[in-house]
Amino acid sequence: MSDNNSTRLFRFLPAVDEVLKAPDVEMLLQSMPRSLVLEAARDTIAGLRNDLQANRLQITPNDHARNFLLAQAVQETARRANTRNRPNLRRVLNLTGVVLHTNLGRAVLGESARQAINQAASGYSNLELDLQTGKRGSRYAPVEELLTKLSGAEASLVVNNNAAAVLLALGTLARGREVIVSRGQLVEIGGSFRIPEVMAQSGARLVEVGATNKTYARDYQNAITPETALLLQVHTSNYRIVGFTRETSTAELVAIGREYRLPVMCDLGSGSLVDFSAAGMPVEPTVQEVVCAGADVVTFSGDKLLGGPQAGIIVGKKVYIDRMKKNPLTRAVRIDKFTVAGLEATLREYLAPQQAWLRVPTLQMLAARQKELKHLAERLVEQLRDGAAQQARFAIVAAPSAVGGGAMPTADLPSWAVEVLPRTMTAQQLADRLRDEEPAVIGRLQDERLLLDVRTLLPGEEDALVEVLSRALLDGGGSP
Ligand SMILES: *Cc1c(COP(=O)(O)O)cnc(C)c1O
Repeated sequence: MSDNNSTRLFRFLPAVDEVLKAPDVEMLLQSMPRSLVLEAARDTIAGLRNDLQANRLQITPNDHARNFLLAQAVQETARRANTRNRPNLRRVLNLTGVVLHTNLGRAVLGESARQAINQAASGYSNLELDLQTGKRGSRYAPVEELLTKLSGAEASLVVNNNAAAVLLALGTLARGREVIVSRGQLVEIGGSFRIPEVMAQSGARLVEVGATNKTYARDYQNAITPETALLLQVHTSNYRIVGFTRETSTAELVAIGREYRLPVMCDLGSGSLVDFSAAGMPVEPTVQEVVCAGADVVTFSGDKLLGGPQAGIIVGKKVYIDRMKKNPLTRAVRIDKFTVAGLEATLREYLAPQQAWLRVPTLQMLAARQKELKHLAERLVEQLRDGAAQQARFAIVAAPSAVGGGAMPTADLPSWAVEVLPRTMTAQQLADRLRDEEPAVIGRLQDERLLLDVRTLLPGEEDALVEVLSRALLDGGGSP
């Protein structure tokens, strides 16, 4: 087809108005903003014009061309409008087996927390009103007593996330002065959270002591000067130094702190209120243990092992927490009402720790039994074979899950996965398709196969997974 020919075809392109009047597009206009559909129609027509110019459409200039191009435009406009009308933040089925996946939103909240957040969102609340006196109250009040009761500490404060908690604590207790930290604990959490950088941001000066693998009590003692404001212990939550190692315990640091009248702060990172070793997982110091050992300030995340909303929780001695409350930075990193609601409900579950294992999804997933996981994987494979046996080979395989969120890097969490070996496309193509589905599905690619670890599939998501996976396989390449 000559250039001349393709330009002549331009006059057969539909006008935007024509596309908008087509019944299929008119129907869309009932349920989405006109501007969005209009934009989709304009882009579509521009796209068709380019296709004609580049001779990508095999058509001849006759009346049939007009109908053909209109039909194309209507179909493509609807597709584009639907894509643009989808929320940008979408539901994802997590089949990575990583329970606290930071890219997928970390902790999944339990029923009680979801209800509390919904209620806080749906009406007014006593967020900063004391209902007993009718006077102004504190937004921290609903969680303060729960946190002190559960941790055994005198006081507490909650901010936007744990990075903010560390920044606030250092800035309040050690601004312009020195903080002593072991070389083995200069953690990078990911993103740009590195202890030395947070320290610099807070205005405190970092004093590193010991060696990467060994730090003794005397290393801290030798580094203490009149400039010292704080002894800091950072839990190396996302890596382990193994072999010829020595770290100073919280209790040892506390003894030094008492001797030199210096506060001791412990950044726990994950911070759990229950003993995970009871569920066959590595021993992590619990918040209660660290408080009991005498740490003056303890910081941890709300959405890691605790299984609550994003938050930075600070518990400890009242003198220090009161100083933090007065720091103007606290206002800048304060939590919103949804966090208060979700955190209170989550913390209430821990009042009965045995219940927490059954009601906090993070704990449930981490404690899931291998036998149950295998049954779930088997059930899924059966259903998938029913629908898409022609398009892929399905099998169940043993796979290791992970805690994630930079917690318990060495935990051994044996799990089961559905292995998908597509016949009509590559595993990578299937993974790409699944990310574009509704809900999106995220698995793990390994040796040209897609692995779907069932540990992180939530109750009630089974049918959706089978449906989405079957659709992606069936639409993808027809019968072999
Ligand atoms: C995760 C982590 C942080 C940061 O917590 P966020 O809640 O992600 O801000 C800080 N310190 C340690 C040791 C951590 O593991």
